[in-house]
Amino acid sequence: MPAAEPVTMDKIVSLCKRRGFVFPSSEIYGGVGSSYDYGHYGVLLKNNVKAQWWRALLQERDDVVALDSAIIQHPRAWEASGHLAGFTDPLVDCRTCKKRFRADKLEDGECGRKPSKRPGETSECDLTDPRNFNLMFQTTIGPVQDAGSTVYLRPETAQGIFLNFKHYLQFSRKKPPFGIAQIGKSFRNEITPGNFIFRTREFEQMEMEFFVPPDQAQQWFEHWLDQRINWYTGLGIRPDHLRLRAHEADELSHYSSGTSDIEYRFPIGWQELEGIANRGDFDLTQHAQFSGQKLEYVDTASGERYIPHVIEPAAGADRATLAFLVDAYDEDEIEGEHRTVLRLHPLLAPVKVAVLPLVRKDGQPELAREVERSLRESFQVEYDEGGAIGRRYRRQDEIGTPWAVTVDHQSLEDRTVTLRDRDSLAQERIAIDALEAEITQRLRRPWSSPKLG
Ligand code: ATP
Repeated sequence: MPAAEPVTMDKIVSLCKRRGFVFPSSEIYGGVGSSYDYGHYGVLLKNNVKAQWWRALLQERDDVVALDSAIIQHPRAWEASGHLAGFTDPLVDCRTCKKRFRADKLEDGECGRKPSKRPGETSECDLTDPRNFNLMFQTTIGPVQDAGSTVYLRPETAQGIFLNFKHYLQFSRKKPPFGIAQIGKSFRNEITPGNFIFRTREFEQMEMEFFVPPDQAQQWFEHWLDQRINWYTGLGIRPDHLRLRAHEADELSHYSSGTSDIEYRFPIGWQELEGIANRGDFDLTQHAQFSGQKLEYVDTASGERYIPHVIEPAAGADRATLAFLVDAYDEDEIEGEHRTVLRLHPLLAPVKVAVLPLVRKDGQPELAREVERSLRESFQVEYDEGGAIGRRYRRQDEIGTPWAVTVDHQSLEDRTVTLRDRDSLAQERIAIDALEAEITQRLRRPWSSPKLG
């Protein structure tokens, strides 16, 4: 097999559109800047990413519980959290090309002139001094717009967790160390959104606040760094495309006493995939002060009381989905024919099994439909009878379907089918009755990317 071409963002964008993973939003109206809609396979893929995150936290452990909090919260919450005053990015304008850039990410910006340059790169660039620009999305509640009606769309899901912390102590009798996790939409008026679904103004976050006794904060911080790196590699991300980067003191968010980013090597370079922060007792202390409520843990037996410290792994569901797509994208040649293949971890693949009759006659479609129906009980299945079998395999490879079941003339005689593997291309003959167990077993096997060689 010839060496694959490097993955570019253009190839990912084009595959996503061609195969219905992700579309530019409102395209028939000319699009709206960096908003995207997920199509069928995109929904299935992102759902699998989120399901694996829930699974790792809720099913595989017994110290994390779930929450789904509202997007619109009391505006005082954003005062207390520091977002109204401090959730800003430094903005610079170029007086020459009239474009805007993030002063701390000039190297990612593209100057408005052609051939395009980095802002500030030539003597013609005339950049203003940086001004801080607040990223909060403001709206009003109710029909009348007055000062009292201003509210904000949440810029992170985390604050909803702090606002509900008391409920978990009171009603669920949780005792630190324990975590509260949630997945949901967040909104940021980003200065320079871009790079497809990497940075958008509306996006989904997967965040967990892990509450610990103050003297255990460092050990849990390290625990979560390990756990989160392992989550990505366990789902097939190549370890040499992941790295940890500790924030410098001047980069830390207003709430953080220590943050490390998990970075992925995107086609645009190393970029943050997830941030893991030691938030100390900043948030609970602030909300206690602003709300007048006690937000502390009290051990009724020993009388011990403390404000827990918080370790926060904060990931983006869209950004993770993009990383999984980039890591999976591959091209090769089979018998002289070019193939695009998504080498996704089978647990993430939008469709697990394709069921294909070899020909559209002789009872094969009927038997294939029967197999499809039985597999649907357990897996996301797709039936396809249109076109040459090679073309149909190719279509499934392109959306990352790990296995294809083919019904042929022999199937009608002995109720066996072939089971084709997307990566090894091996085809095994197997009894229809054994298919479900075989696929279940394959899904449970550890998997690593064939791109590692
Ligand atoms: P960046 O430095 O890229 O702006 P951040 O440090 O502000 O990100 P966090 O506030 O730590 O990001 O948010 C946690 C995660 O949410 C990020 O690691 C990223 O995966 C995701 N995320 C943040 N902003 C966006 C966005 N505008 N679009 C898509 N995902 C985002």
